[in-house]
Amino acid sequence: MSTFWARSLAIVLIALLLSLVVWPFFGPLGVLLLFCLLLLGVLGFHLLQIARLVRWLQQPSLDTVPESFGTWETVYSQLYQMVREQSRSQQKLTNTLDRFVSAGEAMPDGVVMLNDKDRIEWCNPLAMRHFNLDRKKDVGQQISYLVRAPDFIEYLRLQDFSHPLTMRVGRNQEMVLSVQLVPFDVSRKLLLSRDVTQLDRVQTVLRDFVANVSHELRTPLTVVGGFLETLIDMPTLDAELTRKYMGMMQTQTQRMHRLVEDLLVLSRLESNQQSVPEERINLPQLLQTLLVEAQGLSQGRHQIELKVDGSSWLIGSHDELHSAFGNLISNAIRYTPEGGMIKLSWSEANGSGQFAVTDSGIGIEAKHISRLTERFYRVDRGRSRETGGTGLGLAIVKHVLMRHQAMLEVSSELGRGSRFAACFPPQRLVLAGIPI
Ligand code: ADP
Repeated sequence: MSTFWARSLAIVLIALLLSLVVWPFFGPLGVLLLFCLLLLGVLGFHLLQIARLVRWLQQPSLDTVPESFGTWETVYSQLYQMVREQSRSQQKLTNTLDRFVSAGEAMPDGVVMLNDKDRIEWCNPLAMRHFNLDRKKDVGQQISYLVRAPDFIEYLRLQDFSHPLTMRVGRNQEMVLSVQLVPFDVSRKLLLSRDVTQLDRVQTVLRDFVANVSHELRTPLTVVGGFLETLIDMPTLDAELTRKYMGMMQTQTQRMHRLVEDLLVLSRLESNQQSVPEERINLPQLLQTLLVEAQGLSQGRHQIELKVDGSSWLIGSHDELHSAFGNLISNAIRYTPEGGMIKLSWSEANGSGQFAVTDSGIGIEAKHISRLTERFYRVDRGRSRETGGTGLGLAIVKHVLMRHQAMLEVSSELGRGSRFAACFPPQRLVLAGIPI
């Protein structure tokens, strides 16, 4: 038997016992009065409990669950447990939701949640940056009012979300985004966005590079092809003319050869992720070799001098640095008219070292200087070709120096000359002859 029925039975038994006591003194009227009083007491008690319950239900809280005795004690304790259970699962749900929101905020991609009318319900900070959204003002707004790029409006209209859309955003269209709409939950959508500006830049560089290489190779190939055609069409070969054409063709093939060589050097430098070999480079010896090579290249057309101020050696790749310094010297010779002055120098200050090539040549306008190390960038295309340039020399220099944590400093004045300096940090310098 449940406690409720046991308690009810006990009350009835007490009432019967009392009526047996009352009966002899007050008769049936007394018993009836007794029952009425008892019933009124029970009713009053229950009405009081109901009133407390109603009051509590208006502001239910775990701390204010009423306390009582008897059946109401059971009711209140059940209620207490139910409320506690509910608040626990609510807390759990809130925690889970918080975790989802934090995960969404931390996503490396932009996320915008759209409802069935394409209105914004929620977005993470990256999406705010990508689409210039304001979470306070823009929630509830139609996405097409805020992202107005025609490509995006069309993408939204076509409802074919199997492929991402690449679009430009920002005041100057400076950011490239890859966006994709992902339908979910019947009619809602997630708008995902990823910043692919860097990737787009790399692709453009790659496209330009292929176009440049093709262009650089096409010109000498066309010249060689032209000479060959002329020779084939000649009924009889004139020995002198043939020799002349052959010489011209040789110049072009040498040009192609230089280009391919430089491309291979660049590609090796770029793909070589390993750190440079830690060779101890006998700098005074290398500088002497460079001086002799410079004189050989100039063939007496320039005044060339070497000034060494410091006795350190360098740590790094002998071959790479020889090639980089050689490129700077060859440029100075090629862009300095006959009779000009070329100075090679090594100097040390505060533990750092600097190899510089200064010429009194044609100089470079300031606007070109920041772009000189780009592949195939030339100030004067014609002059570069005339002197056998490939447009890759300074790109190679930049790569070699980067691998040695060194910097290229360029200063120049149009018509007066240029100075190219490779600046090495102290950790690249070592005392002459001392093992590392
Ligand atoms: P290139 O093979 O054309 O010389 P580089 O990468 O070595 O290619 O140099 C890029 C451009 O920088 C050259 O085309 C030239 O216009 C300019 N340049 C480089 N060195 C000098 C210099 N010493 N004097 C003037 N211009 C220079």
